Amino acid sequence: MKVTDHIKKAKGNTLFSFELIPPQKGKSIQELYDNIDPLMEFNPPFIDVTTSREEFIYIDKNGLLDKKLTRMRPGTLGICASITHKYNVDAIPHVLCGGFTKEETEYLLVDCHYLGIDNIMALRGDAMKEEKYFIPCEGGHCYANELVGQIANMNKGQFLHEVIETDNKSNFCIGVAGYPEKHMEAPSMDADIRRLKDKVDAGADYVVTQMFFDNKRYFDFVEKAKAAGINVPIIPGIKPVAVKRHLQLLPQVFKLDMPDELVRTVEDCKTNKEVRQVGIEFAIQQSKELMEYGVPVLHYYSMGKSDNIKKIAEAVF
Ligand code: FAD
Repeated sequence: MKVTDHIKKAKGNTLFSFELIPPQKGKSIQELYDNIDPLMEFNPPFIDVTTSREEFIYIDKNGLLDKKLTRMRPGTLGICASITHKYNVDAIPHVLCGGFTKEETEYLLVDCHYLGIDNIMALRGDAMKEEKYFIPCEGGHCYANELVGQIANMNKGQFLHEVIETDNKSNFCIGVAGYPEKHMEAPSMDADIRRLKDKVDAGADYVVTQMFFDNKRYFDFVEKAKAAGINVPIIPGIKPVAVKRHLQLLPQVFKLDMPDELVRTVEDCKTNKEVRQVGIEFAIQQSKELMEYGVPVLHYYSMGKSDNIKKIAEAVF
């Protein structure tokens, strides 16, 4: 079922969902299941599965380093299929522009359609680790709105090179990313909102936000988006702080601010166990306020570990 239909069906009640990262190549999928199992009691209508950019690895060959391009966490679509099958829940693959040609994307979308996947999260992807800025692959999309357009066209039976007479069109519900604190490359918040509007105009049905720690940023973002004519659901993404290093890492990677009260409390923690508890308590307060505001879904970034998300969900849902 489409995310937008889940939201309609909930009739104003806030839903619970979360995002997973595929395991590293060679690791068992069991660890993923072990982290999903405790969260199923909160009835997530959908679970997102991320896609990782490819990266360079260096293999020692008799003292010479051989540079190879590889994906360390493949398996997004397979994981989506297995989650849908095992838990009878909608699983949403993240589909990236980065590293894929339009043709490869078309084949992936055809696979998604055959597997009965109803939702696609359409993203540009970040630059590769070695790149200063995002470089599209030859024959790939430059921005997420183009990818959204490709998916929307396929929903109309328009493939890349031909219009197919079909009685079996895809009908994907399309999610896109939004940034309450502005995307790091955008020159201004207003410019970023205009780009978000481009994605919605191209066919996006809902938005999931980047993590944020100050709810006011989300409320302002929603107001700005509405003023710009964006009328699709905007789902807040929540990340509980889990280790002390997050104080440096999260602002550095995601270009976001953290409230000083949270920063000071984490700084005062003696162990990461204490930090994890602070992160849980902060996310509970954040989630409760968002719920009161009437958000359609609270979407948690689990980063592969669910014990803290479970504690938050117990207190909020
Ligand atoms: P876009 O919407 O294309 O925007 C990228 C930048 O370009 C923005 O600054 C925008 O303002 C600007 N822009 C857009 N269109 C134009 C234009 N026509 N001309 C000039 N500038 C333009 N990354 C992954 O690698 N894998 C994942 O699974 C993943 N999941 C994510 C899930 C969520 C909910 C979020 C919020 C992010 C996720 N990301 C993921 C990160 C995301 O790929 C990065 O933030 C990426 O840098 C931008 O992706 P986007 O889809 O927002 O890009």
